Parts: sequence; structure tokens; C-alpha cells
Amino acid sequence: MKITAVDSFLVRVPLRQRTITDSQSSVDAVDVLQVVLHTDAGISGYGMNWSYTRGLRAAQVMVQDDYVPLLIGQDATLRKELVRRMFYANHFVGRVGAARVGIAAVEFALWDLACRRAGLPLWRYLGAARERVKAYSTDGGWLSWSVDELVRDATRLVERGFDAVKIKLGRPDPREDHARIGAVRKALGPSVRIMTDANCAWSLAQARYWGGRLAEHDVYWLEEPMVPEDVRSHAELQRAIPIPVAVGETLYTRYQFRDYIEAGAVGIVQADATKLLGVDEWLEVAALAAAANLPVVPHTNVQQKLHVQLAAATPGVLMVENCYESIEDIWEEPLRVVDGHYPLPQEPGLGLKLRDAVVREHRVG
Ligand code: MG
Repeated sequence: MKITAVDSFLVRVPLRQRTITDSQSSVDAVDVLQVVLHTDAGISGYGMNWSYTRGLRAAQVMVQDDYVPLLIGQDATLRKELVRRMFYANHFVGRVGAARVGIAAVEFALWDLACRRAGLPLWRYLGAARERVKAYSTDGGWLSWSVDELVRDATRLVERGFDAVKIKLGRPDPREDHARIGAVRKALGPSVRIMTDANCAWSLAQARYWGGRLAEHDVYWLEEPMVPEDVRSHAELQRAIPIPVAVGETLYTRYQFRDYIEAGAVGIVQADATKLLGVDEWLEVAALAAAANLPVVPHTNVQQKLHVQLAAATPGVLMVENCYESIEDIWEEPLRVVDGHYPLPQEPGLGLKLRDAVVREHRVG
């Protein structure tokens, strides 16, 4: 199965219904880079990466200018070797970041080809551990909302069948954060899991004090309290507070995850295959987590279908995020949460093909 041609294109999909806000960003659209590998076997493989900032064009340029020449004519089953070649083609300008997210998009397309040739969805191809995957909602809890809006939205999510919701932290005064979480806990009662996410807004001193006090509201985890480069402070925090610290959405290598795990700096491993070098490195991180008895909860926003499939094949995964529901139909055969769970996709592959109409309407560049 030789690769005969590669297409890539960028789409910018506006969020319907609302702008979302956390301590670092205000998001009104999501960019998706689609990479398509065509083969002489008559099968095409689809990969993607995403951003809600504006850097994805750089990744597309690297795919087109630097990776396509390495891929044309190659055997599509040489996935790990092709990833190595792409990585070293650009490692002087991007051992992490744009170079890496472009490689991951190609890596997913190579996996998609393997699964499509086998006629299996990824989760069956990898070997299934379960037949549905628990969801938790991060499509709410936004930082700009009033307490009333937070409570109303979280209540609606629970009425729809979710029993786990995430609320953003990072208001200018942490006392406000504490009161907001308290109001949500009071409204939802004791049986719903409440997770919190500071998106790196806090200092160590703030995280120690206010992170510790989240236990008063029985918070299930504290996500990205501080900048991800600072492993030592996360280790100090995790020793100081009873709530698990969750990190992973801005960790780009298995070595970073290893350092977090070995330092005792993480309680919930939020590996995201779109930030790592794809499915292979995600599975390596999941194995590291399993060996340390740490649960994995993949970070995801528009790429739920990929992570739901990885979760179905990985016993240590607790649940998978559900975000950006307003644009979940950008994919062919979108997954929709029912009773707080994702059904598993049945079509062969990774499920990362954008609908043609979405590409026509939202293509940029
Ligand atoms: Mg987060």
C-alpha cells in the first residue's frame, strides 16, 4: 500500500451559540487541519489536528513543504519509521509545537489507512476493553459566566444525563472562584463529580491555598493550576493538597509525562494524541500511567472520536471530555453522548474525516 498523493487543507469553524472563555483564551472558532493520504490500494486515510489560536497554518506549511516529499511513494505500513523521518526533518525548528502537530495529523492518517484496510474501527483494531465510554462535560463552566449562568448550565447538563462537569477557575480574585464552585456544588448535590480547570493561571502559593480549599466542595481534580513547564511546583502542590492534580493538554512528549509521573506531580494523566506524536506515543504515555497506577482522562475538544476510541481500548481511562457540542457535526458520522456515555463508532478507521460541506463552507487560505 504505497502513498501516491497527499492533500491538506485548513478550515475555520465558528462556534455556534456562544463564545467560550477560560483564564487564557476567548474562543469563537476552531481551526482544523485535515491531512489526506491517498494510496495505490484505492484507500484514503484521514488525519487532523486542531487549534483555537491561529498557528495551524505553520503546521500545514510543514506538512506540504517538508513531509509530503518524505511520504510520496512510501509504504503506508512503515508508520513509525515515517514519523521518525518527519520528526528529524524539522527538529531544529520544532521538536514540539507546530512541527509536531503536523506530524501527528499525518500519523493519524497512517493509522486510519491501517484500520480501513483491516475494515475495523480503531478501538477494535487495538483490542477493546469496553463497549461504551463515560463522558464528562466541559461544554460549560466558562469563566465569563455569572454564578447564575454557571448553575443553570450545569443543572441542564446533569438533567441531560451527565454526572460529571468541569468548571473554569482563574477569576482575578480566587475567592470568587471558590464561591462559584461552592454554588455549583450546592445546586448539583453530592453525587455529581465537579472538576476544575485553571488553565495555568495560578502561582504555587495560590494553588496551594485555593487548590487545597477546593476540597471543601469535594472537587474531583484541579487541572492545569500552573504553567506546565514547572514540574517541581506541581510536585510540591500534589504533596500539599488532597485533590488530584490533572495535567497533559500542553505536554508534548512521553519524557515530559515520565518526569511528571516520577516526580509525583500528577494525579490524573490527560494525554492528548494531537499534542503528542499521534496514537503510538499516546499509547506509550498510557502505558507509563498504567505502570504508575494513575488514571488517564484524555484531553480533547473537537477530536473526541479519536480519544473515545483510544479510551475504549485502554483499561485505565476513566472518561473522555465532551466539548464544543455546537460543532460536533463537522465530522462524518459524529458521536453524540447518550445518558452520559459515548457510543462507540462502528465505521472503519479513526473517524477524523470532515464532512465535505464543512470543508466547502469553511475552508481558509
Ligand atoms: Mg484544560
